[in-house]
Amino acid sequence: MRVAILSRNPNLYSTRRLKEAGEARGHQVDIIDTLHCYMDITRSRPAVRYHGEELPKYDAVIPRIGASITFYGTAVVRQFEMMGAFCVNESVAISRSRDKLRSLQLLSRKDVGLPRTGFANRPDNIKDLIKNVGGAPLVIKLLEGTQGIGVVLAETNKAAESIIEAFMGLKANILVQEFIKEAGGADIRCFVVGDKVVAAMKRQGAEGEFRSNLHRGGSAKLIRLTKEERATAVKAAKVMGLNVCGVDILQSANGPVVMEVNSSPGLEGIESATNKDVADLIFQFIEAKAKPFNTRTRGKG
Ligand code: ADP
Ligand code: MG
Repeated sequence: MRVAILSRNPNLYSTRRLKEAGEARGHQVDIIDTLHCYMDITRSRPAVRYHGEELPKYDAVIPRIGASITFYGTAVVRQFEMMGAFCVNESVAISRSRDKLRSLQLLSRKDVGLPRTGFANRPDNIKDLIKNVGGAPLVIKLLEGTQGIGVVLAETNKAAESIIEAFMGLKANILVQEFIKEAGGADIRCFVVGDKVVAAMKRQGAEGEFRSNLHRGGSAKLIRLTKEERATAVKAAKVMGLNVCGVDILQSANGPVVMEVNSSPGLEGIESATNKDVADLIFQFIEAKAKPFNTRTRGKG
């Protein structure tokens, strides 16, 4: 098969591993810089141009769209869908997953376990907002944050009020969430391919840190999931419409709760923590599914 990886950087671990794994299985794999693609969208026969030439027809496309280029990146993915390429994650699903509020609303609608969560921009009654999600201790999150930055723990209602006021002053969208203390500063990254969790790791925050992000000094190790955790991750991926994703789960006293779903999960952490060839598993999935126009929306979404 001819496969394109949409990635801004051919030297990233995930990009390199995917290319390697695809070639080892006998496929021709091209790395295409998403932002360098351009196209005439009014043509009756959709195509993508790159470095002055029309790109060939790909059987499959692996989108690795960074959060900072979601808007343009999903338009490029949509174009490949219109050309009939099998896109491992569809443009609509990627856009959906990048909007945290929309994601949580969809997951909640389908009864996926979530931490009790409120969202606000300029609440006219902060005390009520706090009371509405069960009161302190609470986690307050900036919607635009990543890698644990902008995630704050408020131990008392007073502290929660001050933090919410401060974020309001910055005109930021925020999430106010029940603090899952029993998670003990750890979370679980479930790597989903198709309708299976193919690898899972537990990330533990550094001493005294409630955030488990590896960028904040957390460490990762292999974990065996319970049936319920596995089912929760698979269901979250399905609700989001993502074939390949990372589902982050907290172990709460009431069972697993989903924190977020990532449509371009990194391979480095999960492959080294679990010793699994996740890149190869992604190609096995592609081989089973890649038929022309075998996507739900075919660029229509
Ligand atoms: P980011 O997108 O910046 O990674 P997250 O929502 O994933 O933000 O939060 C960062 C980390 O903080 C999580 O990995 C988890 O360890 C911890 N955390 C986030 N929300 C909660 C919560 N409601 N209860 C307990 N810990 C949490
Ligand atoms: Mg996170």
